[in-house]
Formats: sequence, C-alpha cells, structure tokens
Amino acid sequence: DPVPLHSPERQPDDPDAALRPKTLEEFVGQQAARENLRVFIEAAKSRGEAMDHVLFFGPPGLGKTTLAQIVARELGVGFRATSGPVIAKSGDLAALLTNLEEGDVLFIDEIHRLNPVVEEVLYPAMEDRALDLIIGEGPSARSVRIDLPPFTLVGATTRQGLLTTPLRDRFGIPVRLNFYTVEELESVVSRGARLLNIGIDPGGAREIARRSRGTPRVSGRLLRRVRDFADVAGAPTITDRLADDALTRLEVDSLGLDAQDRRYLHMIADIYKGGPVGVETLAAGLSEPRDTIEEVIEPFLIQLGLIARTARGRCLNDRGWQHLGLAPPQQGLP
Ligand code: ADP
Repeated sequence: DPVPLHSPERQPDDPDAALRPKTLEEFVGQQAARENLRVFIEAAKSRGEAMDHVLFFGPPGLGKTTLAQIVARELGVGFRATSGPVIAKSGDLAALLTNLEEGDVLFIDEIHRLNPVVEEVLYPAMEDRALDLIIGEGPSARSVRIDLPPFTLVGATTRQGLLTTPLRDRFGIPVRLNFYTVEELESVVSRGARLLNIGIDPGGAREIARRSRGTPRVSGRLLRRVRDFADVAGAPTITDRLADDALTRLEVDSLGLDAQDRRYLHMIADIYKGGPVGVETLAAGLSEPRDTIEEVIEPFLIQLGLIARTARGRCLNDRGWQHLGLAPPQQGLP
C-alpha cells in the first residue's frame, strides 16, 4: 500500500535528505534532548573516548535518524546506518561490527525488529565491545572472542517498550523525542522554504505548521505540496489563505488530521458508540496493521486529547466527538 501523503511514515521517494539539519545548533526543538546530547558529546570528545550507546525513541518523522547523523558529525566520527529488519543473520551484524573504525557511530533504525538471534550478538558487542563467534559445528565447535574497536551504537525505535529488557538496559543514553509545538514547526517550515527557495510569508508558515501533525517530516512534505498549488496558481508567495486552500484540498483538516486519522475516529464513533473498543478490533475494521495504529495513528490523537487508551480499549473523548462534529450518545439513566 502506498503511504498516505500526510502520514509521518517514511516514503520510499521521500526527499527528506535535502532538509536534514546538519548540526545540533540547526536542529529545531527537542531542547532537553539537544542540551543533554551536547554534554555527552563534549564529554566523550574531551576524554577521547567513544560516546556511550544512545537510544532514540518516539513516533516516526520526529528526527531520530537526523539526530543520529548529527551525533556522528559532532563527534567527528564515521557514520554507518542499517535497520533491524535488514540484518537477517548474525554473520551480517558481525561483518558490520568488525568493519567499524574506532569511535564510529553505528545507527540501527527500527532496532526493535532485530531477529532475536542477531540481537544476542549485540549484547557482548555493546557491553564488552567484543564479538563471540562459534567456529565449527557439533562436538568440535568452539567459541572465539574477537575484540571490536570502541564504537557508539545509536538505536531508533517508535516505542521504548518494544525493546527487550536486556537490549534496553544496554543503552546508557535513552532519549525520548516528543511531538513539536506549532512554533517549532514554523521554524522548520521557514527553514525548509529558505533551503528550497520557496516564497512564504509568516502566516503561510504558521498554517502549514499548525497542520503538520506535530511532525517535521510532515511539515516538509506539506510545504512541497503547497508549493505545487502556489506554482500552478502563479502565486509567488505562500500565504495563510493559499496554504489553507491547498491543505483543505489535500484533505488535511484544521488539526492536521488526514483521512486515515478520521477513518479511525469515525470507526470508534459510528460503529462502537465511542468505545471502549480493542485495538485488534479496530485494526481488523480498518484493514490496517496493529503497529500502524499504535505507532503512527494513535500517538498524535492521544496528544491532542481526542482519544484515550484505557485498560478496556480505546475511547473517544469529548474533544474527539467535537472534532467530528458529533454529539456523544446519551448516557442511559440510572
Ligand atoms: P525519524 O528517523 O524519527 O523517522 P527523520 O530524522 O528521518 O525522522 O526526520 C524526518 C525529516 O524531518 C528529516 O529529513 C528532516 O528534514 C526533518 N526534521 C526532523 N527533525 C527536524 C528538526 N528538529 N528540525 C528540522 N527538520 C527536522
């Protein structure tokens, strides 16, 4: 299935790379994370050591990959990137690890999707900077320990809870990324417009920011789409009117929700009378993988206070009913 236009998920042809900030200074928002990283980077540099392993967690499109690259650049070390599902065998990971140079950053995206056998190889690598290889088979098999150069593993995952405890415990620096404020996204949009040479006024930047689902990746994508509308209309500058028109035509609503978000809300409202309803039931009804619902759709709807996750299932809050323009069902009288 193609990824919907306003989804925070990565698209295969996403030209995100052009907009990636290159330094901590340029990176907008996530102030606490940035300040902490700056300290750890400086400390590692002054001691001439590899930095401790870092885990970035938070919804897609908030800057985990970007920060991993920035960490390597600011440390002045090499950057190697891979992702959990791509590493099929322990040998693949062993090859990656033995090819690292001293101090390098190894970035593993979607680290929660590592195959458990491969994950076992990471434990001694992270803890003792060593690799335990089994040579031979059967009774003559023996284990050999190979030393690795000091390196920094940077993992990224959409939810910290998806990691196994032994893996999570081996990251010295866990960093949570949060949704961005509208003001922060305004800076992201203005910066993107400057880099892409797009005319935009402050009102236009604010409108795109307001409707970006708290997510810089979405800001970049919406900016490029709105520019298409501006170009076709022969408008030299994106104003709030123009942005509003374009985004409405792209089916991004006033809160930045897309068609997929609204289908989700309507399913709870129309079929389950506001819930509670289990996530598996919603996944089946919407024909969406449960992961997409829990990692892509729900975090932002919860952040906006439209829905709640309860022990008995998902419920639509008053704000959710309001946003859909519906009245909640009358409670039965006692
Ligand atoms: P993730 O790895 O969390 O899915 P990425 O690091 O790939 O997210 O970020 C997606 C895109 O959003 C990047 O290409 C970059 O253009 C933009 N971006 C992310 N964070 C920021 C930020 N803090 N400031 C400016 N642009 C950002």
